[in-house]
Amino acid sequence: MQHFPIFLALAGRRIVVSGGGEAALAKLRLLLKTEAHITVHAPQPDPQIQQWATEGKLRLVQRRLEPGDTTCAVLFYAADEDETEDARTSALARADGALTNIVDNLQASQFITPAIVDRDPVTVAIGTEGAAPVLARKIKADLEERLPTTLGPLARIGKAFRKMAEALPMGRARRDFWADYYFKQGPRAIVEGKEAAETTLETLLQDHLSRQAKLGHVAFVGAGPGDPELLTLKARRALDEADVVIHDRLVSPAILELARREAILVNAGKEGFGPSMRQEQINDLIVEHAQTGAQVVRLKGGDPAVFGRLDEEVEAVRNAGIGWHVVPGITAASASAAAIGQSLTSRGRNDDVRFLTGHDMAGFADHDWRALARPGEVAAIYMGKKAARYIQGRLTMHGAAPDTPVTVVANASLPTQHVIATTLARLPADLRAAAPTGPALTLLGLEPRAKDALPADTVTALSQQEVSL
Ligand code: SAH
Repeated sequence: MQHFPIFLALAGRRIVVSGGGEAALAKLRLLLKTEAHITVHAPQPDPQIQQWATEGKLRLVQRRLEPGDTTCAVLFYAADEDETEDARTSALARADGALTNIVDNLQASQFITPAIVDRDPVTVAIGTEGAAPVLARKIKADLEERLPTTLGPLARIGKAFRKMAEALPMGRARRDFWADYYFKQGPRAIVEGKEAAETTLETLLQDHLSRQAKLGHVAFVGAGPGDPELLTLKARRALDEADVVIHDRLVSPAILELARREAILVNAGKEGFGPSMRQEQINDLIVEHAQTGAQVVRLKGGDPAVFGRLDEEVEAVRNAGIGWHVVPGITAASASAAAIGQSLTSRGRNDDVRFLTGHDMAGFADHDWRALARPGEVAAIYMGKKAARYIQGRLTMHGAAPDTPVTVVANASLPTQHVIATTLARLPADLRAAAPTGPALTLLGLEPRAKDALPADTVTALSQQEVSL
C-alpha cells in the first residue's frame, strides 16, 4: 500500500487551489463539501468559480500564486493545467509545509484524492493508486447504486441515537437492532421524512429491548470463599434475580439460601453423574437453561476466573449467542491470607505472588519450581492437599530451605476455618496429622502473623496445632 487512506478533519483548515479551469472545478466540487476555508488563485477563473466566490463559498484571488500565498495551508492542489506552472506553484506550497497534489500527476503528488461515494456521514473512498481509474469508476458506480441515497440521513439520525441504543447489550443484540434499522425499517420510514425515521427508531429499540428481556442471560458469579458476608453486592443482586442457579460443590448452603425463592438450584458437582458432572454437560446445562429465556446464575466458589474453567463455559454461552457477564468474587488466596493476617505481597519480601494448582487434569501439575524455591517467594497453591508431598519434594530438590514457612488454610472464612502453620520440611506430616476436611489452600512462604492479629477462632485452631509463633 503506497497510499494510506485517512479521513482528514478539515473544518476551519486552509486549502489552496491554483487554477481556474476544468481541473480546478472538479476538485472544488469535492472540496466544497467540507468545512475548510478554500482559496482559489486563478488569473482567469471559470464563471462558476466566480459565482462560488460571490456566494462566499470560497475566496478568489484573480492572479497567479506567489510566494506567501500558501501560508498555513494544510492541502494544496495544483490544477493549473500546465506542467511548468504546476511545478512552480506546488513547489511554493510545499515550501510552506502544505501537502500537495498535482492534478493528473500521481508521481509528483504527495497525496491523491480518492473516488468518493458520498452518503454523508457515510463516506466511501476508493483508491487504486493510479493503477486503474476505470476500476475505481466501476466500483464507485456499483456502490452508488447499492447504497440508497437515504443512507446519509439514516446514518445521521442513527448517529444521534447511538447512546440510547447502548441500553441493549453489546454484541449481537445491538448489531441486530442496527441491522433492522439500516436495512429494513429505516429505509421505509425515511421516505416519509426525518421524524418518521426517528419514531421508527424509538419503537424499534423498545421492541428489541423487550425481545432482549425475553432472552436468557448468564451471569458467571463468584461466590467467594464461603462466608456469605464476603459476597459482593452484585453477586447478591444476581442471586436475587436468578431463575436458575447452577452451582459448584464448593458453594456453601448459606449462600444458596440467598437465591430467589422460586429459583431452581442445580448442583453441577452432583453425585449420580459420577464424581462430578463432565464439563461439556455443565456447558450444555447452562446453555439449555438460558435458551428457555431464564436468567441463569452460574455460581462458582471464590472468583470464577481463578481455576474455575470460566473460559470454556463463556465460550459455550457465546457460541449459543446468549448474553453473559462476569461478577468477580473473593478468591481463596485472598481469604486465606486474611485468615492469617498476612499480605500476599510485601515490599522488600515479594513483589509478585503466584497462584498455582497442585494438580491439573493430567495429574500433579508442573511449575517453575526453581523460581518458587527462591527465598521470600510467595505462592497460593489451590487443590494442593493431595499434592503436598510432591510439592515438597520438587521445591526441596530445587534448593528451597526446609524451614520455609508454609501455612495451610482449610475452609477459609467459614466457621470451620482451620489453620495449619508448618514448614516445608514438615508439611506432608503435619497435614496428614491435622487431616483438614473441606477445601484447603496452601500458602507457600507465609506464616500466620502474631496471634493478636488473628480472629479468635483461628487462634484456637492454631493452639490446637501447638504452633509457636
Ligand atoms: N475459583 C476458586 C478456586 C477453585 S479451585 C477460587 O477463586 O477460590 C478449588 C480450590 O480452591 C480448592 O481445592 C482449594 O484449594 C481452594 N479453595 C476454595 N475455597 C476455599 C476455602 N474456603 N478455603 C480454602 N481453600 C479454598
